[in-house]
Amino acid sequence: MPTSVLIGAGLCDSVGLIADGRFSGGTHGTVVGQVAAEDSTRGAITSIKGTDLIMIDANARLLQLNVADEELARCREVWQTTHSIETIGVSASLLVDTAAPIDISFAAKGLIVPAVYRVQVKKTGSIWRKRPKARAQIIRRVCKALEVEYGRPRLGNPTKPLDDLIFILISNRTSPQLAEQTYQRLRKKFPKWENILESPPSKLREVLKPAGLSRKKSHQIRSLLGKVRRDFGKCNLDVLARWQDEEIHEYLTALAGVSDKVAKCVMLYTLSSDVLPVDVHVYRVSKRLGWTARNRAAHAHEELEALISPSRRFAFHVDCIAHGRSVCRSKPDCYRCHIRKDCEYFKTAR
Ligand code: SF4
Repeated sequence: MPTSVLIGAGLCDSVGLIADGRFSGGTHGTVVGQVAAEDSTRGAITSIKGTDLIMIDANARLLQLNVADEELARCREVWQTTHSIETIGVSASLLVDTAAPIDISFAAKGLIVPAVYRVQVKKTGSIWRKRPKARAQIIRRVCKALEVEYGRPRLGNPTKPLDDLIFILISNRTSPQLAEQTYQRLRKKFPKWENILESPPSKLREVLKPAGLSRKKSHQIRSLLGKVRRDFGKCNLDVLARWQDEEIHEYLTALAGVSDKVAKCVMLYTLSSDVLPVDVHVYRVSKRLGWTARNRAAHAHEELEALISPSRRFAFHVDCIAHGRSVCRSKPDCYRCHIRKDCEYFKTAR
């Protein structure tokens, strides 16, 4: 149920929503999500009856079922599941075998459920057919060779979250050189991001013009700056460094023009998050290596995160971009490539 239904009916002050699934940044009112896991683990939610009182205290992060402990115990004894969390729609996405578990702790009176579930990853790459030890060796070898070749280039990405976010939006569908030049010009023209909001939109469009899509990018940048200033009182996102990864991702993807990939890039480059954004270069190199067979980069994030340990993700991401720009381009130059011995594309193309 979209929360707009509650808001539209004027019920936001009197009705809270407890549901399976996740909520986006467009959510309003009091909501608690991802409760199917609680159900599957025989949590307090399985004991709720029609007239029971439930207290939601967002500040204390508490979801409390006001039922006596004895009653809870009695209900749990007779309760039988009708499904397993592995097999039901949204909840199945909370299961996993990756190295990065998602913590969806859910507390209720009498039963604190510190549940840690893992997301089920579909293994499409041919590398999964290798034994775990051989697979780990290949990944280590490839990551090391790429790092020796390219180091860990920051690729011009700024170190502060809001600066980086704007830099990445400017980089959309333009060359790295043009993106960097345009970003530098933008910083010169508007020393503070607030200056953009105080100037007519045409001035921003003029600066963005050489990088292309100036109308769209100018709209996205003005819109997200406006929201950031409304939310935090200033155009600055440094506060995100104190947030959990899930919260950061949810906030960023609710901003204008910010996709899953863009949010993960900001998190990786500026907030030391253990994510692995998959852009066109990371996708092309990974697919040719045989590490994923997904048809779209946007669908390969989880599979590659399952393969590559958190400590290697930053280097792998930036090195793949460097490799994809210089050697493993659309038409690859395989005989110049240092990782060809581990590349499925090279083995089959010979
Ligand atoms: S061997 Fe060729 S296809 Fe494989 S990663 Fe290297 S350049 Fe790309």
